[in-house]
Amino acid sequence: MAEVLVLVDHVDGKVRKTTSELLTIARRLGEPSAVFVGAGFDAAKETLARFGAEKVYRVESPEVLEHLVVPQAELLAQLVADKAPAAVLVPSSPEGKEIAARLAIKTESGLITDAVDVQAADGGVATTQSVFAGSYTVSATVTKGTPIIAVKPNSATPEEAAGAAADEVLDFTPSDAAKGAKVTESKPKQATGRPELTEAAIVVSGGRGTAGDFSKVEDFADSLGAAVGASRAAVDAGWYPHTSQVGQTGKQVSPQLYVACGISGAIQHRAGMQTSKTIVAVNKDNEAPIFELVDFGVVGDLFSVLPQATDAIKAAKD
Ligand SMILES: Cc1cc2nc3c(=O)[nH]c(=O)nc-3n(C[C@H](O)[C@H](O)[C@H](O)COP(=O)(O)OP(=O)(O)OC[C@H]3O[C@@H](n4cnc5c(N)ncnc54)[C@H](O)[C@@H]3O)c2cc1C
Repeated sequence: MAEVLVLVDHVDGKVRKTTSELLTIARRLGEPSAVFVGAGFDAAKETLARFGAEKVYRVESPEVLEHLVVPQAELLAQLVADKAPAAVLVPSSPEGKEIAARLAIKTESGLITDAVDVQAADGGVATTQSVFAGSYTVSATVTKGTPIIAVKPNSATPEEAAGAAADEVLDFTPSDAAKGAKVTESKPKQATGRPELTEAAIVVSGGRGTAGDFSKVEDFADSLGAAVGASRAAVDAGWYPHTSQVGQTGKQVSPQLYVACGISGAIQHRAGMQTSKTIVAVNKDNEAPIFELVDFGVVGDLFSVLPQATDAIKAAKD
């Protein structure tokens, strides 16, 4: 069975959920081989094996991560040449998409980004994309070279399947051309204890209706183990960090459940959340446009609705 390369997304060996999703998808296409760059393999191995990685190609040299994404594209291009995989899967994050694009050029292969589904098709790989703020579904397949596919988070439910995770340390040195930019400093983001916005299964977002007080949104999110997002109106007002903005000019999220609190539902906001599986809104204006796309809507003041919902969820958990 042909190998399917999966670029592992991890922080010091703590493997992100997107990688478990990619390994699950890879098993539909062939035999998953993880590609692990950086330190922390010992910590990562158990997760990679649990989600079916038969092999792990790894590079420990710090040089590969010191020069942003270009060396990773070179490394994957070397593996594509050596292993002739059936496909290469990367996370559809900004870094993942840049790696995928560079890899596609280096290997003269077709590239598909923002896939929300990937399946084996006759002699190839069939993908689905959701475009124009979720108003169109596009089916696409790669017709040249090795399919290089960037897959959006939450596009598959991670399913366990034991793999050997047999590791092979690669001898890889980035070219001089790949070292054109260098990381000079990096600081860890202040931990919130909440899941990453683009990966979370549940996202609770607040908008101008919070009037700057996100405490009820955060309490509700924490009761659900959710990530917290925000509308542009809220981040522009300085009420929440720009990194939490959901929408056309913010982050694209596609969780199982999206709860919009005090958000009107402008088209630019919808563009970042419309593909969520279930959408709930809390808004005191029953004519707010957000109610046009919800599965479940609550007309009410978020400062009254959210604490009651939080209490009910906590009580249900006890
Ligand atoms: C080029 C461009 C790009 C943009 N990109 C983005 C983007 O990426 N993301 C984004 O979000 N926006 C974006 N915008 C802005 C977008 O057009 C809207 O202005 C913005 O989304 C509005 O945010 P909001 O819904 O929080 O605020 P508002 O539209 O002011 O809505 C606030 C809502 O809160 C409700 N409300 C008020 N008080 C309460 C309460 N106590 N309880 C319950 N409900 C209450 C109101 O009824 C209202 O519906 C962009 C705009 C442009 C032009």
